[in-house]
Amino acid sequence: MIDFDQVVMNFGEKEVLKDISFSIKSGEIFTFIGPSGSGKTTILRLIDMLERPTSGNISIEGTDVSSLKDRDRIPIRRKMSMVFQKPSPLRGTVFDNVAIGLWFRKVSNEEIKARVPEALDLVGLKGYENRKAGTLSGGEMQRVAIARAVSTKPDILLLDEPTANLDPASTEKIESLISALKERFGITVVLSTHDMVQGQRLADRIAVVIDGRIGQIGTSKEIFYHPMNKAVANMVGVENIFEGVVATNEGGLASIDVNGASIIATTPLPTGTPVILYMRPEDITFHLIDGVKSSARNEFTGRITKVLPMGPNARLKIDAGVKLTAVITQRSYEELDLALGKEIGLAFKASAIHVVEQRSS
Ligand code: ADP
Ligand code: MG
Repeated sequence: MIDFDQVVMNFGEKEVLKDISFSIKSGEIFTFIGPSGSGKTTILRLIDMLERPTSGNISIEGTDVSSLKDRDRIPIRRKMSMVFQKPSPLRGTVFDNVAIGLWFRKVSNEEIKARVPEALDLVGLKGYENRKAGTLSGGEMQRVAIARAVSTKPDILLLDEPTANLDPASTEKIESLISALKERFGITVVLSTHDMVQGQRLADRIAVVIDGRIGQIGTSKEIFYHPMNKAVANMVGVENIFEGVVATNEGGLASIDVNGASIIATTPLPTGTPVILYMRPEDITFHLIDGVKSSARNEFTGRITKVLPMGPNARLKIDAGVKLTAVITQRSYEELDLALGKEIGLAFKASAIHVVEQRSS
């Protein structure tokens, strides 16, 4: 119901979107993930018809909007609501701030008096009508912005980095609110984030945006475990990327030569094929060198070359002939008595490796 077909967007000389195509279905949560400056906001502004594409077609609910006259765009724009990343500082009461979109749409005062409390209730701010908007916390302000957007009962809700500046507790509230909107009202939610974990938690489907192009579109499982190229893998935290060649393949279980080390992986690709291997850091497990071995196909011994504490986890760099990045809980780290420079046994399953044919380009 939202279709981009070969959309290009230039600002002056600058090519900001380079041939973007995608299709968002009615009722799904569709997330654009990408680094800052990759073009996410521009895509949302194009959907919201705040910009016109330099070339290509955009269609919304079957209407080609790229060439519509301004006045013909209004009815379509009114089916959509956008929450901007940086909401302008709010003045007046919470009621006024939620009611703005309804006044703009010339909804009757009576109806506005009914809809504002309804919308506030929905975002968990029941009874906030008379509070001064300027006194709210960042998370509350963001919920007011969402209440304003949903009070107009849009078919499509556009959210630009809705939790970018919020603490974890407020982020969780906003995320469950977004899921509820989809489930209770069947609203199509299109959001952008640079937080891959948020994408994974919320999205039915994800588009990875890199430098004005879409690197891959798919479910979170497809994107996070089967990235199509290195740029996508880097963006979604697949930190172990190796180049190698299939050395043997017996019935789909292949031995892949990576700089002299053999990694066992499942792939139909035949002997001699140059490949790229992808593995998430969470898929590596550890054991004491003379301890109980795992049942995984890939067993290595490696030396810890770097330790980076990350809350309850630690991120480890390991030299095991190949250089690996792994994540371990602090508890396991202590239980295994690990330390910088120490040798450790590590293992990963053949099925944890995603094998992609390397095309010469
Ligand atoms: P993101 O939301 O992913 O951070 P944006 O869509 O905001 O990315 O921006 C993508 C690129 O387009 C950036 O390089 C940005 O500087 C540029 N850009 C965005 N809007 C404009 C504009 N109105 N004029 C000129 N350049 C712009
Ligand atoms: Mg942005």
